[in-house]
This record gives sequence, C-alpha cells and structure tokens, in this order.
Amino acid sequence: MITKPKGTYDLYGEDTKIYDYVLDTFRGECSLNNYELIKTPIFESSTLFHRGIGETTDIVTKETYDFKDKGGRDLTLRPEGTAGVVRCLIENKLYANTNNYLKYYYYGPMFRYERPQSGRFREFNQFGVEVFGKMNPYIDAEVINLGVKYFLALGIENVKIKINNLGSKSDREKYREALIGYLKPHIDELCEDCKVRLEKNPLRVLDCKVDSDKEFFKNVPKIEDYLCDESKDYFNELLDNLNALEIEYEVDNSLVRGLDYYDYAVFEFVTDDEKLKGASTICGGGRYNDLVSTLGGPDLGGVGFAIGYERLAEIVKTLGLVKTSDPVDVYVVPVTENELSDAFIIGCMLKDAGYKTEIDYRDTSIKNKLSHANKLDVTYIVIVGEEELKHYEVKLKDAVTKEEKLVKINDLVDELNINF
Ligand code: ATP
Ligand code: MG
Repeated sequence: MITKPKGTYDLYGEDTKIYDYVLDTFRGECSLNNYELIKTPIFESSTLFHRGIGETTDIVTKETYDFKDKGGRDLTLRPEGTAGVVRCLIENKLYANTNNYLKYYYYGPMFRYERPQSGRFREFNQFGVEVFGKMNPYIDAEVINLGVKYFLALGIENVKIKINNLGSKSDREKYREALIGYLKPHIDELCEDCKVRLEKNPLRVLDCKVDSDKEFFKNVPKIEDYLCDESKDYFNELLDNLNALEIEYEVDNSLVRGLDYYDYAVFEFVTDDEKLKGASTICGGGRYNDLVSTLGGPDLGGVGFAIGYERLAEIVKTLGLVKTSDPVDVYVVPVTENELSDAFIIGCMLKDAGYKTEIDYRDTSIKNKLSHANKLDVTYIVIVGEEELKHYEVKLKDAVTKEEKLVKINDLVDELNINF
C-alpha cells in the first residue's frame, strides 16, 4: 500500500465541512474589510525566501523543501505566504496606479520540514492578510481587529493577543549590540543552534525554545529599553487604537516571531486549547516596513498576519462549532430499472430548481432503496413507479412524517416550494 508522506494528511468527510466553514467565514470577514483575494504560486525561486524570510531563521536553514527542477532552477515550496505576495506586488507593480492602501487576503498550503505533532504538519494551510502602504497605526489596528472579529465570527472566544514592539532598524541595531554583549559571557550555556545565532542573528536566541528557560535568561536585555521615541509613539498609538476598539492584549517583551522581516509591531493570537500544547499560536503577524524594498520594490510598508488552519480546525471541532450533517432535500427512487430514465430527468429537474438531490441509480429492490433513503438525512423521497408515470405522476413522501401523496410531475417543484 502506498501511504501519504510523513507530516501530511487527507481531508475528507465531515472534516471538509470544517474547512469550508473556516474558509467561508474568513472570506466573509475579508470582504467586509474590503480586502481582495491574491493567489501566488506554491513554489517560487529559492532566493525569494532566503532573502525575504532571512538566511539565519529556522524556517530557511532547516525547514524548507528545496529542489531543482528539470531545467536546473533552484525552487522552494513556499513555507509562508508573505514573501510570494510581496514578490507579486513588485513584479506586477500593483502599487503603480494608487497611493491608497493595498489590501489582500490569501489562503492555501504551506510546506515546512518540521517534526510532526498535534497542530504541526509538513504540509499545512494558512489564511492570511497583507496590507501595503505608509506605516500607520490605524492600519495595524484594522488588521488585528480583522483577526479578532474573525475568531469571534467562528464562535471562538478565549483567544488571547500577545503584542510586542520590535522598533525601527536602528533600534534593533542597538539592541543587537546589547544582546551580544550580554549573551557572549554565557556562550557555553547556549544550545548549539544559539551559538551560531548569537553571531549571525542574536534576536533569534530570544525565540529559542531550548534556552529561554535557563537562569541567565531572566536578566536578558529588553527591547523596550532600546526603542527611540518615534517607535514608542507609534506603538502607543496602536495600543490606543486597540483600546478604543476594546480589544484586550498583553504586551510581551519576549515575542520576536520566527521570521526576520518584522519590525515595529509583532503579535500572536494564542489559544489555551488543551490538545494544542506546544502549538498554541493560531495566528502570527506584524509589520514589515523593509521587506518590499529588500526584495527590490519601492519603499512601501506592509503589515499582515497568517492563521494556521489545522490548529483552528482542532478548536472548531472541540467546541462543536460546525453543523457537520448536511441533509439532502430530495431522494429520487425509481421503483425498477424501467423507471430509471424518468427518475434521472426528474432528479435533474429538481436540482435545476435548487433542491439538493440524490438519485438512486442502483439495480436493487425498491425495499433496499427505501431503507437506504431512511438511513440518510433526507427530507423528502420521490418514488417514481410505472403506474404513476402513466398519469404523469410520482409519489412524494415526507421522510419524517412518512405521509405520502401523489403529485403531478409538472407540479412537483411548486409542491416542494410550499413545503420547504
Ligand atoms: P510556531 O512558533 O508554532 O512554529 P511560527 O512562528 O512558525 O509558529 P508563523 O510562521 O508565523 O508561525 O505561521 C503562522 C501560523 O501558522 C502559526 O501561528 C501556526 O498556527 C501556523 N503554523 C506554522 N507552522 C505550522 C505547521 N508546521 N503546521 C501547522 N500549522 C503551522
Ligand atoms: Mg515554526
């Protein structure tokens, strides 16, 4: 038997209803905010992610699926959505005809070579938004509010927001010096990965899941002590906007996120769902003012987030937020093979009239067909028999009350309209 690759999953049956619910609700929320759909390739040039996400991030050093195609091109399955959207924005000059904000949403599969566990897969799905334009604390608040309203629309209430200020490039430069100065004397105590991170990208040490519990970490310099007034003012305005919308949050100085392109505000939406220990972040995002120019575009700021579908689906399932039954309006049953062609036409007519219809095509007894219909979640059964057909009639049976009546085929849709 050929089995699915490690870290992937099949989606079928009732779980597809959760996917539809979560995606449809997301589309609804994005549309309400006037965000447009954007769809970019699942694989891109490897350089896009190396340059965009950062050479020293875990995602790029350990987690990407890289391959050469038959033409010898270096390609990577996208590990996240932002870099591709930014590439598309630049390549198609989407910013050319407007000086207003550009607002997009996307969804689709992402790929990371990670250790699979509950809420962590190698192929997983993200839904995200990106807004491009001049840095503005109202826009950041709008993006966070969209996330808040989305989780509420799904029916999930206990989602917590963590937010931090990473400041400007020069703030981080100063902070970087301070971090190196503080951590160097502890280099022997750092994990192997962090020894390398300390040289190349010391902020990443803060994101380390191995080292962050160690004793010397308690007094590690805090980014907030290195922020200039402009960065502080911007962040405070953002927090004021969140307060005005009565959005609750916790400022968390240790939050740095796993991608290098973030600056100023970074945030996460976290759940306390029991099953998702170690994978409790269901949404991550922030501002990235330099990414567009780093990738060769104009000086255009950006802000966005990505929501992890699988973790969200787990919560939606636990809370029972989706009605997984999906009743069939009409089940059309020919009494014998001879009535199948009439049943087929009648069934198709009912679909044209907007009724969800299933036709029983099987070569089996009427008893079998009806007992199958009774097992399904069906509202009406239409029985197509030889005698009735002679009078252009069928039997319409209410699957719940079991009441039956003869109805002219021409009147069938009207009759259903009255009853539905
Ligand atoms: P984590 O710290 O949980 O690894 P991350 O910082 O790598 O998350 P992002 O790259 O910001 O996450 O992605 C945003 C969201 O996508 C995450 O909050 C999570 O819900 C989801 N996500 C990330 N990696 C995976 C994965 N391997 N499987 C399933 N969902 C994932
Ligand atoms: Mg990760």
